[in-house]
Amino acid sequence: MLELNNVEVIYDRVVLVLKGLSLKVPPHSIVALLGANGAGKTTTLKAISGLLQVERGKVTDGQVIFQGEDITNWDPEKISRKGIFHVLEGRHVFEHLTVEENLLAATCLRRDRQGIKEDLEKVYSYFPRLKELRRKIAGYLSGGEQQMLAIGRALMSRPQLILLDEPSLGLSPLLVNEIFHIIKEINRRERTTMLVVEQNARVALSVADYAYVMENGRIVLEGEPEKLKENEDVREFYLGLT
Ligand code: ATP
Repeated sequence: MLELNNVEVIYDRVVLVLKGLSLKVPPHSIVALLGANGAGKTTTLKAISGLLQVERGKVTDGQVIFQGEDITNWDPEKISRKGIFHVLEGRHVFEHLTVEENLLAATCLRRDRQGIKEDLEKVYSYFPRLKELRRKIAGYLSGGEQQMLAIGRALMSRPQLILLDEPSLGLSPLLVNEIFHIIKEINRRERTTMLVVEQNARVALSVADYAYVMENGRIVLEGEPEKLKENEDVREFYLGLT
């Protein structure tokens, strides 16, 4: 479904952040992208969704291919119309709107009112807490609730591919498990493809079908989670095991 071939990214014409990165995300799968701070994970997602341009970044070599089409350096809006939804790190909901208004705002490209209504119920079935909070102003929600809302917003646009940036950030271990359980459920039931950037390797490897490890703008390791968990470097640096 998605393929990055030797992608190179430069910010401000000088800072080389991705140095020939290749990865594949097959249809209906969950792929995890792991790596330390500053490895270039967020940049990779921005190269796919086009948000790089907003920060004066550019793919200067290689290609981003989505469903057979070369979308390299397309406008973010055009890319989102193709069915890619980027859930940014740090949640990014409309703080002054209610929960339900936030969810509906994600459907502005859609005209099917019945479908929108059904999707709203679907989001509430994945996240019953959001239903309870639907008239509440989003800015007052807890971190975990805002993360649920950010994922709910993604679902409302019926995406083909969701890019999730650090869904575990700032959440308690219990909530992290809950959110990842729901991510897996959404993938299983809706068959939505997901590329998940995570620092919490343990939880990411528990739901992913395949994973890549990044270092310094490149992929240094890849494989199925079970295989990666056996790798000594992964055990030591990402899982805290010896
Ligand atoms: P983190 O988990 O800390 O977000 P990351 O793996 O997602 O790390 P990126 O955010 O992609 O890494 O950053 C990779 C490198 O690119 C860093 O060295 C960062 O300083 C640099 N960088 C990121 N955004 C910009 C920008 N807008 N302009 C210049 N350099 C940038």
